[in-house]
Amino acid sequence: MQDFDLVKMLSDLPSAPELEARRVMEVCNACRYCEGFCAVFPAMTLQRHFASGDLSHLANLCHSCQGCYYACQYAPPHEFGINVPKALSELRLESYEQHAWPRPVAALYRKNALIISILSAACITGVLLLAAIFNGDALFAKHASVPGGGFYNVIPYQAMIAVAATTFLYSALALAISLVRFSRTIGLGIKVLYQHVPVLRALRDAATLRYLGGSDGEGCNDADETFSTTRRKFHHALAYGFGLCFAATATGTIYDHMFGWPAPYALFSLPVVLGTVGGIGMVVGAIGLLWLKLAGEDAPRSPALLGPDVALLVLLLAIAATGLLLLAVRSTEVMGVALAVHLGVVLAFFLVMPYSKFVHGIFRLTALVRHHADREASNGFASSPPTKKG
Ligand code: SF4
Ligand code: SF4
Repeated sequence: MQDFDLVKMLSDLPSAPELEARRVMEVCNACRYCEGFCAVFPAMTLQRHFASGDLSHLANLCHSCQGCYYACQYAPPHEFGINVPKALSELRLESYEQHAWPRPVAALYRKNALIISILSAACITGVLLLAAIFNGDALFAKHASVPGGGFYNVIPYQAMIAVAATTFLYSALALAISLVRFSRTIGLGIKVLYQHVPVLRALRDAATLRYLGGSDGEGCNDADETFSTTRRKFHHALAYGFGLCFAATATGTIYDHMFGWPAPYALFSLPVVLGTVGGIGMVVGAIGLLWLKLAGEDAPRSPALLGPDVALLVLLLAIAATGLLLLAVRSTEVMGVALAVHLGVVLAFFLVMPYSKFVHGIFRLTALVRHHADREASNGFASSPPTKKG
């Protein structure tokens, strides 16, 4: 007699978000009105049946532009109740949880706002305590903004590097494991990396936010049924601002370790210019995206994803704002506290990164690679952007 594993059978049952995403995709695959809207619909038409991994792939291709919701003749109050962005958002959140490492902390995604607040407060307190223990006088002293003066008097260099490196490496490992798990789920093998065309096309789409531009440049339904490119511009400001800040940190590390030039750096030095431009970009982008999130209509969105979205934006805004504040007060007596607060929120970001909406970036890029690999394999790649109907 065959073994009867009830627990396994129950855990293999599709979840409610998966069932709803499958129902919606089956209706869309029969309708196909939105075929030219984004990468989701061409990818959908390559499937006859929607396995769990295929749905995860489609969910992560969607960036919730809401175009198909406002165009859909079967959207609520129609009895079919088709709401693609909401269904795919719910499943996307579930895919973040399913692939998290270590698995028990997956529940953090749905409690991001609370976790980020507690973690930020704890990290700021921890850094302040560290500074007070090391050299309490330096915390409130006036600092000279000259190389070698300032930052390392407040927080010892070795402590700063040890904490930053440990948390960053942990986050990078957790993200890498999640990425490998997700790649397996959507059926993307390591071999795809040897096919440079899908990878390059995915990078191009991600770097240009191609599908946030709409099919003919008029943009997306950012907050309601009208079209605009506002979300794309704010997203660019935030993403490229983040990249510039990362480049500023990397440049500072090279200056320090390779050339022996310790921080702080002059106002027009490369790390400061990169960090200032990047910080301003992040502030503008984060505030703009928060405004769109809070002003947008609720119907096409998943309430469960709104919390993680807002929490990450607030954290990124806090990193950029405290970084710019630190630059402004670096030769005053409040520099020590400003440094501790900035390092505290950066530390909180590193810790929460693998369990926050940040994973959207790498999952979406991976889904785009599979999308282009599928199109290559089916010989159906269209080099020009698809166009919207109607
Ligand atoms: S979202 Fe609506 S209109 Fe668009 S393909 Fe699906 S069912 Fe058709
Ligand atoms: S919400 Fe936008 S990105 Fe998502 S499936 Fe609809 S048209 Fe595509």
